[in-house]
Amino acid sequence: MSKVIKSAIFQPQSQINMNKYQHIQEAAYKANMQLPALELVLFTFGNVSAADKDLGVFAIKPSGVPYDELSPAKMVIVDFEGKTVAGDLRPSSDTLTHAVLYKHWPQIGGIVHTHSTYATAWAQSQRCIPIYGTTHADHNTIDIPCAPPMDDEMIRGNYEYETGFQIMNALAKKGLSYEEIEMILIGNHGPFTWGTTPEKAVYNSAVLERLAHMALLTEQINPEVKRLKDSLIKKHFERKHGPGSYYGQ
Ligand SMILES: [Zn+2]
Repeated sequence: MSKVIKSAIFQPQSQINMNKYQHIQEAAYKANMQLPALELVLFTFGNVSAADKDLGVFAIKPSGVPYDELSPAKMVIVDFEGKTVAGDLRPSSDTLTHAVLYKHWPQIGGIVHTHSTYATAWAQSQRCIPIYGTTHADHNTIDIPCAPPMDDEMIRGNYEYETGFQIMNALAKKGLSYEEIEMILIGNHGPFTWGTTPEKAVYNSAVLERLAHMALLTEQINPEVKRLKDSLIKKHFERKHGPGSYYGQ
């Protein structure tokens, strides 16, 4: 006990605060390092955040720091209003988008944004990704939504903050909840994914990229291809997620 008190006394104030956030800094660091490993990012594109809802903060990648120079301690701590709470570096330029989503979606613990090639190509084409096969159905029963490009007013205003609302509005317009679908494309821009944990958000980002790639190839091979039929959608989703799920490939 005395050891704990002693070490707290001799630590600078900033370090004590950082320690309180160590678990999300480590989670955010590990998840960020998955992006280059999964070939979802080039240079410094992309970012992952990890939230602690009880503390009302999230850890996010610093802006412009190459992946091989990252460390858990470099993850910046930000509150759900987008204000930096701890850390010496500038948080990712997409921080306000993450803050808006954490503030409004109580069940998520991680968010990922990348410019991964195939998902971004669909976003640039302003197209939802149609459900063409059972790989897609294993994860989602619907097309991956694509939000429209942002309005000029939103772009000229607080762009990153408005991007969060663009995501929420697009889901609302389609009658979807953030718990039903954990991925979206922003028209002209790229994908955002989320999940109950940062690991799940990264997993969703990699799955989305693979689905985007497969859908493109499918349309190239057969431009007349039809969406997956309902019976296969239902079968595949339920064997992985339903009460009698038995999927474990
Ligand atoms: Zn971006």
